[in-house]
Amino acid sequence: MLKCSGDEMGTIVRITGPVVIAEGMRGSEMYEMVRVGEEGLIGEIIGLSGDRATVQVYEETSGIKPGEKVERTGRPLSLELGPGLIGSVFDGIQRPLTVIREKVGDFIQRGVRANPLSRDKKWKFTPKAEEGKEIEGGDVLGTVEESGLVQHKIMVPPGVEGKLSKIVGRGKYKVTDEVATISTGEGDINLNMMQIWPVRRPRPYKEKLPPEVPLISGQRVIDALFPVAKGGTAAIPGGFGTGKTVTLHQIAKWADADIVVYVGCGERGNEMTDVLLHFPELKDPRSGRPLMERTVLIANTSNMPVAAREASIYTGITIAEYFRDMGYDIALMADSTSRWAEALREISGRLEEMPGEEGYPAYLASRLAEFYERSGRVVALGSKKRIGSVTVIGAVSPPGGDFSEPVTQNTLRMVKTFWGLDSALADRRHFPAINWLTSYSLYVNNVKGWWEKNLKEDWKALRDKTISILQRESELQEIVRLVGPDALPDRDRAVLEAARVIREDFLQQSATHEVDTYCPVEKQVKMLKLVIKFHDKCLEAVAIGAPIEKITSVPVKEELARMKALPLEEFNKKFREINHEIDRQFERLCGEVSK
Ligand code: ADP
Repeated sequence: MLKCSGDEMGTIVRITGPVVIAEGMRGSEMYEMVRVGEEGLIGEIIGLSGDRATVQVYEETSGIKPGEKVERTGRPLSLELGPGLIGSVFDGIQRPLTVIREKVGDFIQRGVRANPLSRDKKWKFTPKAEEGKEIEGGDVLGTVEESGLVQHKIMVPPGVEGKLSKIVGRGKYKVTDEVATISTGEGDINLNMMQIWPVRRPRPYKEKLPPEVPLISGQRVIDALFPVAKGGTAAIPGGFGTGKTVTLHQIAKWADADIVVYVGCGERGNEMTDVLLHFPELKDPRSGRPLMERTVLIANTSNMPVAAREASIYTGITIAEYFRDMGYDIALMADSTSRWAEALREISGRLEEMPGEEGYPAYLASRLAEFYERSGRVVALGSKKRIGSVTVIGAVSPPGGDFSEPVTQNTLRMVKTFWGLDSALADRRHFPAINWLTSYSLYVNNVKGWWEKNLKEDWKALRDKTISILQRESELQEIVRLVGPDALPDRDRAVLEAARVIREDFLQQSATHEVDTYCPVEKQVKMLKLVIKFHDKCLEAVAIGAPIEKITSVPVKEELARMKALPLEEFNKKFREINHEIDRQFERLCGEVSK
């Protein structure tokens, strides 16, 4: 912790947009939080030289004048972590937007203060720890039913250990009420239900685990072809209208994560309003309750100061890590990291730093890394073993859909799953418009064992074969473009037909279809088995001389086209039948040839 006597103060000498230079700041530390000007705007020290500090201010600075004071707080920019996070909408520095809106209306004035966590609300606390026992950081003192979907575990903060000398009984308490006392060698520590944690410091854990459990989204192209592991990282870049929002919402709704943290950095004011309006309308499909009951929203619009946008992804990931400490799986979505990088660029410009590629600061890559590296599946602190994960999914919105720009490129170096959205596919209404030729996942070998163990299927073999058929299709389409379809040998035409079936009947999946919006993994593998069998049978038939027209018009294709609309149980019944039909119809076709 930083220390200062509290009366230490500097003076503003220069103001350029969100950046303020102050003198008389000797003894300050990097990333110390300060109060700027007479109104006490929140700022953070991002540069120090002699007694001069460079401060980025999280609120509008117009009207602030040189000569006004800059007060030190002696602590870094920190968050309040405790009951009340779930269902909240915060800005980049955890100001509670809904509370502030009630106070001052839609337009947030600067200098408005409100506690991130309500000081009035009382929470029902159920003690889980025993008085007299030795206890350490991460141990659960008690639980609070935070929402219908989340049980909040009140934990001993990292670094605290000793004997639990007192714990309150079951009852209703405010976040600031003392609930436990721990006797340590250096005296007693009284704990309430809230932890204060610096946004830029990753929360500690015991051990990082390999990312071998997939985050199941129920979206076939993701789960079956380009999976992301729990605790892993993924990027989803795409131009406007390619389906970023729909895909992220699908993941938020369906992924087997306990909690969703959604960091929205909108471009224009209204983009973020969209999220603020639509997200609270989403329902958790499994429980039918509002999705907000397991969601924390961090929202930034363009009319909020850039510095707050820069801080927002650290705020988001700190909250995600805190819930991971409880042993939960969290999906953190940042939409979009491009807007975040632009904030970084603007601040860097104000600091008159040497610009790198396209004006972004040279440290763009390391900042992106600092964010993505906080993902992971871990054993949390505490004497009882708890495993939790933070999966980070970053949307990127490259200008003009051009993936060669710096934010996309630097993100690609960091993440292990890439879902490349393709405007040509979106134009053809192939959704999700995730291009199977450019996308990849480096988790395939990690999660392969999960499929074998849980579904008793060689998923990887099916997956690899599917991708190789689709790749072959693309090569053949190239030839067709040059010489026309008639020049292709029958064998290749059969491949094209089978690939079409894979694209249309397997990869295409409508987010708005009642059944198809979510596809259980069990159904995914079986669907894959059927389309691959269809492919193999087509090639066998060609090999023995069956006419291509007959192959491409086998009636079982209709059944394959209908399978995605079938609910799991019905599909399971139908699976054998379709499987059998493929055998029967191709046998008959081949029989006719040999006569
Ligand atoms: P972006 O956020 O990239 O601008 P959106 O997510 O808003 O794009 O998607 C644009 C449109 O594409 C949606 O309104 C919807 O009609 C269609 N769309 C995208 N993904 C799907 C999907 N999985 N299923 C059905 N329609 C989709």
